[in-house]
Amino acid sequence: MKYDTLIIRYGEIALKGRNRKSFYDTLYDRVREQLLDLKDIKLKKRFDHIEVVLNGMDYQQVADRIRHVFGIQSMRVAITVDNDLESIHSGALRVIKEEEHIATFKVSARRKNKDYPMTSKDLNYSVGSFILKNTENVTVDVHHPDMNLQIEVLEDTTRIYGKVIKGAGGLPVGSAGKVMLMLSGGIDSPVAGYMMMRRGATVEAIHFHSPPYTNDRAKQKVLDLAAALQKFGGRLKLHVVPFTNAQIAIRDRMPENYRMTIMRRMMLRIAERLAVKREALGIATGESLGQVASQTLESMNTINEVTNYPVFRPLVSTDKVDIIEIAKNIGTYDISIRPYEDCCTIFLPKAPKTKPKREQANRFEKNLPIEELMEEALAGVETIDVGKQTEALEDLL
Ligand code: ATP
Ligand code: MG
Repeated sequence: MKYDTLIIRYGEIALKGRNRKSFYDTLYDRVREQLLDLKDIKLKKRFDHIEVVLNGMDYQQVADRIRHVFGIQSMRVAITVDNDLESIHSGALRVIKEEEHIATFKVSARRKNKDYPMTSKDLNYSVGSFILKNTENVTVDVHHPDMNLQIEVLEDTTRIYGKVIKGAGGLPVGSAGKVMLMLSGGIDSPVAGYMMMRRGATVEAIHFHSPPYTNDRAKQKVLDLAAALQKFGGRLKLHVVPFTNAQIAIRDRMPENYRMTIMRRMMLRIAERLAVKREALGIATGESLGQVASQTLESMNTINEVTNYPVFRPLVSTDKVDIIEIAKNIGTYDISIRPYEDCCTIFLPKAPKTKPKREQANRFEKNLPIEELMEEALAGVETIDVGKQTEALEDLL
C-alpha cells in the first residue's frame, strides 16, 4: 500500500501567539528548501500543519529529507479515500494491516464536515467493528492502544492516518535572528552551531585560516563541516579570515604564555566586526567549561572582555563524550577527526596560561597593532556561499 499524504506538524511554534504566522512561514521555507528538487510532490500550507501531497513518491524518502528540519514536531502519513462508509472501512483496514506488531487499537474519528450523516462516535464504532471482523489477533483498547487510528472526515474526502514519525523538535532556523559561529575544524564548534540552529538561529560561520601554515585541506574540512550543517537550516555562508599575519605578530611580540589568550581576543574582535557587518546579534563558540586551557573561567573572562556582544557557548556544560555523541549523530564527527590542523594548534605554546588576567592581556596588547591587523584580516575575508557550492557540485555529478 502507498500512503498519499505526509502531514507535518509543528510543536512549540504553535505557542508563539501573534508570531505564529512568521514562525509557520519560516518552517515552510525550511521544509521547501530540502524538498525543492523532488518535482513530483506538492506542498500545501494549511492552518495548523503543512500537507505534502506525495503523488506516488515514497513517504520515507521525503521524511528522511526533512527529519532534520527544526520546528517539526512530528510527521504523519495518511491515505485519502472517498467519504462513503465502504471506502472508509477498507481504507482503515489497509492502514491497520500496514502497521506491524499491533495487538490493540482504537479508532478516533473527527468530522470537519459537520453535514456528514454519521456522528464521530458512530464512525468509531462502525470502523472498529469492521476491523475486528476482518483481522485476527487484534483487539480494541480505548485506554492504551498500540495504535490510535485517526480518521478525519473532510468536505469531500476522508483522511486516514498511519504511523507517526518523530521530528527534530526545536524552532525553525531563521525564526530567531542571526549569530556568527566561530567554526574551527574541531569536534565542538559544529555541534555548537547545530545547537544554535536548533533554537531557530540563522548561522553564518567564521573560520580563521593561516596559510601557508595551514593548508587547503584544513579549509576544505571546514567547508565540509559547514555543508554538513546545511541540512538543518538551509544555505550557510562561511567567512574565511586570513589570520597568518595576526598570528605571526602575536608570536613575535607577545609573551609565550599569553599568546593563546591574545589570539582568541583577536579572533573575537574580528568576529564582532563581522557580526556588525552581517547584522548578526551574537557570536557562538564551541567552548566547554574546563575542557582545555583556553576554556577555564579565567580564560573565558579575559577573552570575553574585548566584546560586549553576547557570546553563546551552548556546550559550556556538556561533557566531551556527550559532545562526541551529538557530533556522530549529526554527521560532523567523521569530518572533524580528519587530521589537518587549524591555525591555532600550529602557533600555540605548549603551556598556555590557564589563569590569564585582563589587566595583563591589556598591558601586553599595547605592543600589538591591533587595529591594523584587524583591518588587514577583514580586507582579505573570503565569503563562500556553501549552499551554492554544494548545488554547483551536485550539478556536475
Ligand atoms: P573545537 O573542537 O570546536 O575546535 P576546541 O576544543 O579545539 O574546540 P579551542 O581550540 O579552545 O577548543 O577553541 C575554542 C573555540 O574557539 C572553538 O570551539 C571555536 O568556536 C573557536 N575557534 C578555535 N579555532 C578557530 C578557528 N581557526 N576558526 C574559527 N573559530 C575557531
Ligand atoms: Mg579546535
